[in-house]
Order: sequence, then C-alpha cells, then structure tokens
Amino acid sequence: MISKDIDKAIQILNLDGLVAIPTETVYGLAGNIYSATAVKRIFDLKQRPSYNPLIVHIGSIEQLHDLVQDIPEKAKILADKFWPGPLTMVLKKKEIVPDTVTAGKDTVAVRIPNHPVTLELLQLLDFPLAAPSANLFGLISPTQAEHVADYFKDDSPMILDGGNCQNGIESTIIGFENNEAVLYRLGSLSVEDIE
Ligand code: AMP
Ligand code: MG
Repeated sequence: MISKDIDKAIQILNLDGLVAIPTETVYGLAGNIYSATAVKRIFDLKQRPSYNPLIVHIGSIEQLHDLVQDIPEKAKILADKFWPGPLTMVLKKKEIVPDTVTAGKDTVAVRIPNHPVTLELLQLLDFPLAAPSANLFGLISPTQAEHVADYFKDDSPMILDGGNCQNGIESTIIGFENNEAVLYRLGSLSVEDIE
C-alpha cells in the first residue's frame, strides 16, 4: 500500500512492523531499532546478510546522545553543518543499541535524513529507525514509492509516499579514528564539502 498517512505508519512501527520511508537519498525499509522482531524482518525481507550493519535514522541531534558514547568535536561540527542531510557518521555505540542492528560492531552508523515526511515521522516516534535501502539485497536502490512496491510485491510493507528522492545516491559514510574523520563510503555528499 502506497500512502501519505503518517499516523498509519506510526501505528505499524509501534507494533514491530516495517514501513518504507522516503529520504533525500533513496527509499529506506524502516523498523524500530529496539524491536528484535522489526530488525529481523528488515534482514529477512531484504534477504540482507546479518553481517551487514544497518544505518540508524534519528529526527534530532538530541537523540544522538541516547545512542553513542562520546561525540568527537569534528563529528559535532559535521552534524551541525550537514544534518539533516546525506551524511552518515559511525560512532562508538552505547549498550542500548542492539547488536543485531550493528552486526555485532561496537560502533553504530547514524544520520538525520533530510526529507520533510520522514523528519516528521521520526520526530513523532519514541524510537529511532533502522533503515537500509528498500530493495532486495544486491539490486538497485529505489527512488520512487512504485519501485519499492515492485520489489516486494505481495510482501510489500506500507510505503510512505514522499515523491521522488532528490539525490538518488546513498549517503556518504564517515568514521572517526583517533578523532580524525575517515571516509568509509563516498555517497551524495562530496569529500570537498566535508573537508
Ligand atoms: P546501506 O546499505 O546504505 O543501508 O548502508 C549500510 C552500510 O553502512 C553498511 O554496508 C556499512 O558499509 C555501513 N555501516 C553501517 N554501520 C556501520 C558500522 N557500525 N561501522 C562501519 N560501517 C557501517
Ligand atoms: Mg543498500
């Protein structure tokens, strides 16, 4: 079902279900990070290997403090500058972030997506959303609600319609080693901008 009904999406997510969400990069397949059922459903539906960690989506910088232990000065500067936006930062996680989300790593990848519909959704929820791209593992990331419906057919979760994704390219991922930023994946935010 393709729908613009944010309240319906909240109901589904509160009950361990999945919702495909629009972002400025691509559509994501989202579930409550604290629900073991929801996280398992993401991996199962995508046929994603469990060793591939998920990016956690939050609605405000304040929520970052619930998830990560300490925030390097450079990470704070980048968050102020580029969030909401296509920058994912990998930081030391707190215990509360489930190992299934991070594939057993002691770090967690986090970002604030820049899409009005998903920002509103994230700000109304009591929990962050784990969301990889809403496609089957290995296939092209969807940039329209219809692409998501085509991928999952009868198994499709609710798709929150946010129109076409502006960028169509995944987020840039950076980590921090000895407090210096390290590029993990080049995406729609350029290295020049980050530097
Ligand atoms: P995506 O497939 O766009 O959802 O992005 C997920 C990718 O983010 C993974 O394949 C990893 O490359 C990266 N990632 C997520 N969590 C971590 C982490 N804790 N440490 C390093 N890379 C991560
Ligand atoms: Mg992907």
